[in-house]
Amino acid sequence: MGSLGSTKKPHAVFMPFPGQGHINPMLKLAKLLHNKGFYITFVNTNFSHRRFFKATEPLALGGLPGFQFESIPDGLPSMDEDGTVDQSAVAKATVEVCPAHFAALLLKLNERSVSSSSNDFPPVSCIVSDGMMSFTQETANELGVPLIVFWTCSACGFMCYLQFPHLEESGLFPLKDENDLKNGYLEKPVNSIPGMKDVRLKDFPSFIRTTDSNQNKFHFFKELAQATYKASAIVLNTFDTFETEVLEAMKLLLLPPIYTLGPLQLWLNNTKEGDTLKSNMWKEDQECLKWLDSKTPKSVVYVNFGSVITMEPEQLNELAWGLANSNQAFLWVIRPGLLGESNAVLEQHEFASEMKERGFIASWCPQEKVLQHPSIGGFLTHSGWNSTLDAVCAGVPIISCPFFAEQYTNCRYSCIEWGIGMGIDGNIKREEVERLVRELIEGEKGKKMKEKAVEWRERAEEATRPGASSYMNFEKLVDYLRQEDI
Ligand code: UDP
Repeated sequence: MGSLGSTKKPHAVFMPFPGQGHINPMLKLAKLLHNKGFYITFVNTNFSHRRFFKATEPLALGGLPGFQFESIPDGLPSMDEDGTVDQSAVAKATVEVCPAHFAALLLKLNERSVSSSSNDFPPVSCIVSDGMMSFTQETANELGVPLIVFWTCSACGFMCYLQFPHLEESGLFPLKDENDLKNGYLEKPVNSIPGMKDVRLKDFPSFIRTTDSNQNKFHFFKELAQATYKASAIVLNTFDTFETEVLEAMKLLLLPPIYTLGPLQLWLNNTKEGDTLKSNMWKEDQECLKWLDSKTPKSVVYVNFGSVITMEPEQLNELAWGLANSNQAFLWVIRPGLLGESNAVLEQHEFASEMKERGFIASWCPQEKVLQHPSIGGFLTHSGWNSTLDAVCAGVPIISCPFFAEQYTNCRYSCIEWGIGMGIDGNIKREEVERLVRELIEGEKGKKMKEKAVEWRERAEEATRPGASSYMNFEKLVDYLRQEDI
């Protein structure tokens, strides 16, 4: 099957979904495999490629021989960095436009390998694909190489997607009545999900919140998760002691072997690849780190809702006043496009003067570094999986304010299972924001959550040490991908 000549390096082709929360962890894994001697081709779609290279200093992109970027068309319009693109449009475009271009690119790579006189451009020996780019399976089959599917969400989030057929069969999806969205029905416990006890309907990815049995997003995710059964292996950016029960239950689902490798950033930082090849779609504001230097330890709440969600002006207004009234210092990242059409609302906001005194507003920041800064006391987050891991790796407690997808599941786990968070339930209200932010920075509950977060950080560090679970799983994955006849 595979065509790894004994003198050729393994060559892994990465295909992430075009979103920051997908590219970041996949680039981390790519760098770790590069560190193990793999040749890497990292494929972006034109949508992210343009943004990626525009926002990143050219220097940070050089200097890693045997690591190349490629880009394939996705049919999305060219956007400037203020633009927001509906995620459904991105998903639809990638499914319709990318497959043929991806297949053609891989053929081209293999032709290049054949015509290269030296051994420095090896043939493609495996594909590491985002779970949301399942079309890659066909190309892997055609080339006879293994497909490693990387689900960039939590194990609990992935388990929910795997259980979508069950929700349908058991009549839990779709909702019977529009009123179920408001009448407490979503509080209903669902006790038939393997490894996830006491989860409620409201803890599932948001795509179940509909009376429409044909809702595209539900079916899209259902099919993506089921497609994973055809892969050669699965990678998750989590660690065994963090999601023990759900991972144990997942092993019984007869899925391909699962490699839990996280948190990837903890051990990447110790490699020569660690600081190279940045992957930001927006330019990082470094000034915020200097501003943090001027603050006292654990005094600042960091507010960031990631790269995808959009907010209504009313929500932003409530948040702004909640932060202002909490009397705590804050670093708030308002990325271009967070408010959909324009962020100008904020500049005219009455809150602007309050902000100058106690707050720092940035449009994008080096989040991992920010969270590691000693001045940070807590994180108000949308509970995207990467942000959750960033908080855990820094030992920082959170206020979780989920907006969509499996952010609700991560919120549930952060607040109940891991004890590192407090949730904002439903609409954002200034009084609640004020109360929670005070509690986070000054309160007893905030202190307990901080202790828990530090404990989880220690366990995360343990998992990535030589001989421990994530470390050993990575070694096993590397061995598997190096086999000459996979
Ligand atoms: N991030 C960053 N700077 C920012 C905001 C986010 O570097 O100002 C990074 C963050 O470290 C994480 C990713 O962007 O790796 C966001 O991913 P996540 O899964 O948390 O949320 P998404 O953007 O997918 O909703």
